[in-house]
Amino acid sequence: MKDTLLSIKRQLSNLQTKVAYFEDDRSVARELVEYIDNTGPLDDEKTGIFKNLILKMRKGSYTSALATRAITSLVEGAARRYVREIARDFDPKAWYSMFPASVRRLAIESVVRTFEEQYAGGELDWIVDGVNLTSKISKQMKITFTDAEGYDVEETVEVPTKRALCPTCDGKGTTVNPAVDSHGISPEEFAEDPDFEEAYFRGDFDVRCRECGGEKVIDNIDWETLEKTDPELAKQVREHEDRRYQMEQETRNEQRWGY
Ligand SMILES: [Zn+2]
Repeated sequence: MKDTLLSIKRQLSNLQTKVAYFEDDRSVARELVEYIDNTGPLDDEKTGIFKNLILKMRKGSYTSALATRAITSLVEGAARRYVREIARDFDPKAWYSMFPASVRRLAIESVVRTFEEQYAGGELDWIVDGVNLTSKISKQMKITFTDAEGYDVEETVEVPTKRALCPTCDGKGTTVNPAVDSHGISPEEFAEDPDFEEAYFRGDFDVRCRECGGEKVIDNIDWETLEKTDPELAKQVREHEDRRYQMEQETRNEQRWGY
């Protein structure tokens, strides 16, 4: 009798675990989608599929059916992997009972929908163009400003940012070494030295872009958001930027005119 009770208890607790797991199809599907996003190789696979789909979008040959097919194999692979790695007490061959067709369908639809929405919002262009203009939303900067008593204060603050293509390298991440062409290269110079011209355009003199550090993008201060959320900080950052600009001007003048 005692044994039976224990066994029933155990079964009950097993059942509860499963109930927690299987709350409803929708939450299991969500779990599977999150698992894809948080598992490096699966996320890479997803990015690769998205890349293909973006190219199809741009060529005008995209259909939701095509996306569904590609993403079905991603989701099924993820379900297999999930059972193998996370739900170890589960029979690995039974992945399709842990993630039945109804759940997989929900997960697939959700990934397809996310793709189409993010594509329409321009959030995925970076996958093909190599530049991510959406991810960063704030940066830390050290600023110097005058406080209420008139003292200079140095502080590290967090400011909202907007990503933009680096204007110095046009999003390439590299520029020609300034030592080579900052004085300007005349057509005659190229004409006199065709090897130099070839090397120049082949990128032999390219160095990592100084402005973006090779990142291809820069994080500009999002003044609109900053003014709205923290006008006081906006004032301090503006003062800091003005000071920096003035100092740069002075340095330039010194270099050029000696004062
Ligand atoms: Zn750059």
